Amino acid sequence: MLDVVLYNGTVITLANPALAQAVGVRDGRIAHVGTTADLLSLAGAHTKKIDLAGRTVVPGMNDAHAHIWKIGHLLTSMLDVRRVTGIDELVKNVRTFGARLPPGAWLLGRGYNEAAMNEQRAPTRADLDRAEPSRPVVLTRTCGHIYAVNSAALEKAQIAADTVAPTGGEIDRDASGKPTGILRETAMGLINKVMPPPTADDYEQMIVAGLKHQLSLGITSSSDCGVSPQLLDVYRAVDARGALPARINVMPLRRVDGVPEPVPLPQQHVSDMLRVDTVKFLADGGLSGATAALSVPYRHLPTKGLLRFENSELQELCGDAHRAGWRIATHAIGDMAIDQMLEIYEGLGEHPRGLSHRIEHFGLPDAAQLARAARLRVIAAPQTIFIHSLGRNFRSYLPDSYLPRTYPIRAMLDAGVRVALSSDAPVVEDDNPLVGMMAAVTRLDNTGHLIAPAQAITTAEALHAYTMGGAIATGDTDNRGSIEAGKWADLAVLTANPLAISPETLPAAKVDMTLLAGRVVFER
Ligand SMILES: [Zn+2]
Repeated sequence: MLDVVLYNGTVITLANPALAQAVGVRDGRIAHVGTTADLLSLAGAHTKKIDLAGRTVVPGMNDAHAHIWKIGHLLTSMLDVRRVTGIDELVKNVRTFGARLPPGAWLLGRGYNEAAMNEQRAPTRADLDRAEPSRPVVLTRTCGHIYAVNSAALEKAQIAADTVAPTGGEIDRDASGKPTGILRETAMGLINKVMPPPTADDYEQMIVAGLKHQLSLGITSSSDCGVSPQLLDVYRAVDARGALPARINVMPLRRVDGVPEPVPLPQQHVSDMLRVDTVKFLADGGLSGATAALSVPYRHLPTKGLLRFENSELQELCGDAHRAGWRIATHAIGDMAIDQMLEIYEGLGEHPRGLSHRIEHFGLPDAAQLARAARLRVIAAPQTIFIHSLGRNFRSYLPDSYLPRTYPIRAMLDAGVRVALSSDAPVVEDDNPLVGMMAAVTRLDNTGHLIAPAQAITTAEALHAYTMGGAIATGDTDNRGSIEAGKWADLAVLTANPLAISPETLPAAKVDMTLLAGRVVFER
């Protein structure tokens, strides 16, 4: 007898047959897919029957690259400044938020983007001192690769005019040589070293809040790309108590900014809810903050971005992980960083467990790099949602020659590179997969400008990349990614069929219900 039947709808299986009317669940897994009549005939007195009334079921979405604890941090104890559009408004938000904190507590915020500011600049220490003269203030830029801090934070970290930036980082200075409060890439580590870390309880609240938020978007399987040993311990403990709200692929870091020695490889861990078998590296920075490593200078600044690692060190750390049977996922956006990674991955040779390594973001590859990636069976984890949210930054910062190959998903698929779409949230505010799909198909940014329209893919390809693509990138196609007998009954019920509506209106399809292992875990 079936535990649950969803009937009288459109089921997009991403398998054979491609479409069905109903799906049945037993013991947390999909038991049957077929017609409404077939499935209802298999239902018994104790079967929960969900009438879809014409709605559409898709496989639970997979966010292949996100930062769940950071999403949760913004939902719990961090100031969210992602919608702020001016320096004065930012100062006011910081001051109001600070008034609620105990004396001396650090004020952490996230999400400023100078391109979205009236003044077209980042906040300085002077702005933040105006808001909070005494307690340390640390605002993370929207990309997560730059801090804006106040004088109290600089003092705590003992960053002064004579402080030398660590390798792979920069301390911005004014004309007199004094730090402006902007710290880039590894220089953020100077602050991390002295900032009080979250407690295990804080972390647990963040994880739970982040995953529950994603369940409301139909995401049943997510990722935390780059976690510290402390956070990894919390994930293991929460999983052991059966308290993870959704499935998650947690990627430990081997290099933590501000920690001098590499982090040793942890124990791998694969349960139904928690997967730990991928290590994360960051080869460069972000495009929107001009720290992604390009081979030519940015349009708006005399910089080519930053490579965060000496080649030899990255090679050695990747080699260790590869030989010990880990999948490697490396953040590489600029063509210089992509080259560095393809060279290193090629040098690693056959994987002892037959795994494919990943390149996260993969923002600006050229045709030769894509062909090489396909040959090396590298999996791409890009974010079309950036086209929607950061198009303005791309248009004003990228040299002309790079714009046509910005997040070139069409070219990736045509070259034979497997693609897992994702949000990288909270880097952008919106982690709705339907918005990511819309941008993948329309290539329109949120001001109506086209970004590399020749790189458009179809809605069906985008849905595949948000479901099967994620399963491939997680190495778990046996259990997730499509609606087929034997796989986990992780499902999203949508108000409209994404394949039948115009791509511009994809976000109008709402997630009505999310099921994980056949249990309803979200209802609108
Ligand atoms: Zn990321």
